[in-house]
Amino acid sequence: MRIAVIGAGIGGLTVAAGLGADGHEAVVYERREDPGAVGAGLTLFGNAFGALDEIGLGERVREVSSDAVARMRAGQRAPSGDWLASLPPGAVPSLHSLHRAELHRVLQEALPWGSLRLGSHARVAASGEPVVTVDGVEEPFDLVVAADGLRSDARTCLGLDRGVRYAGCTAWRGVTSAGLDLRREAGETWGRGKIFGIVPLPDARVYWFATESTDAGRRADDEREALRARFGDWHAPIVSCIDATPAEAILRHDIHDLAALPASFVKGRTVLLGDAAHAMTPNLGQGAGQAIEDAATLVLLLRGVRRAGDLGSALARYSALRRKRTRLVWRQSRLMGRVAQASHPVSAALRDTLLRAAPAAAMSRGALRLHRWTAS
Ligand SMILES: Cc1cc2nc3c(=O)[nH]c(=O)nc-3n(C[C@H](O)[C@H](O)[C@H](O)COP(=O)(O)OP(=O)(O)OC[C@H]3O[C@@H](n4cnc5c(N)ncnc54)[C@H](O)[C@@H]3O)c2cc1C
Repeated sequence: MRIAVIGAGIGGLTVAAGLGADGHEAVVYERREDPGAVGAGLTLFGNAFGALDEIGLGERVREVSSDAVARMRAGQRAPSGDWLASLPPGAVPSLHSLHRAELHRVLQEALPWGSLRLGSHARVAASGEPVVTVDGVEEPFDLVVAADGLRSDARTCLGLDRGVRYAGCTAWRGVTSAGLDLRREAGETWGRGKIFGIVPLPDARVYWFATESTDAGRRADDEREALRARFGDWHAPIVSCIDATPAEAILRHDIHDLAALPASFVKGRTVLLGDAAHAMTPNLGQGAGQAIEDAATLVLLLRGVRRAGDLGSALARYSALRRKRTRLVWRQSRLMGRVAQASHPVSAALRDTLLRAAPAAAMSRGALRLHRWTAS
């Protein structure tokens, strides 16, 4: 089939690489001139690797990832450094971390030569007919995959949009310019309305993120100073992470998710994939993982399409499978965000007490269920 993919983010690149490997002709439209990744680090769990393995991309991504975090003590700490809950090294063996730019590079290298069209702002047909319009010129396809992110124009144009919601917090992200000794400890530190996360990258540099419950749209003249003011008295090596990151390399974004998932991820022969279908808060570290699961599911379902009539049922199955799975993760992410960002002293204290009392085995079992994906 000739398949148009709109958006060269993690979701679009993964599906295009998988489709290309299966012999489909995939054309990827990306509105940006520079397809390099904006962002810092990323964590991917076993579900993402299970999906990548199914479409032949797992090894390439493992090569640029590190499992160092899975070999550390990880969990949630209080700002003093006391552990609220932790899993022993090896409890989540599938957890890998990597730099987003590396993931984008590997996925782009897996695309058939010449399939990426940069600087191309693409529009879908409102009817779901498989046609893409760029600069007023229409191009017909057999299928269109819209992987155009949180504020997907395709979702709106298809009449599937149910709104975007501000999650009530802003997030900073950075990568240290040199390695730091983490003393074999990683994970998140939860304060009142604030979180700081530490993740080792493959080259010993550290990817960190911070969040704060606040109004949308606020910015500081110097974000590094703003972070020092908020996290300066938190446990080591939090301040070292901030200090070891060039101020101009610190990213800040307000966090949004979809207010409600679209009733279907498919209209006619146009499919929503990744954040366009189910943008979620980052609290479970699953947004990209779910985009990768979407991509593998679509690629595998299209392998079963032998006649034109099969395509409709494959797409209906894609929507049913992926909507069910992502709705659960989207909801859990939102719930986790509420708990982790608790700002009232009473609710934050209750949260900490419950976390201290939670048995590690039960937490690990819950995580394993989320982090498993098989080509059912
Ligand atoms: C702070 C933070 C931390 C996160 N951490 C993690 C994590 O650790 N693990 C994880 O799995 N997920 C994480 N996520 C989520 C993850 O980043 C996203 O879910 C994922 O990147 C979504 O990929 P995507 O390809 O669906 O969309 P995007 O990355 O948004 O890509 C969409 C692409 O489409 C292009 N585009 C848009 N409109 C058009 C158009 N009309 N024509 C052509 N091109 C267009 C855009 O330019 C963009 O390149 C995090 C998110 C945040 C905000």
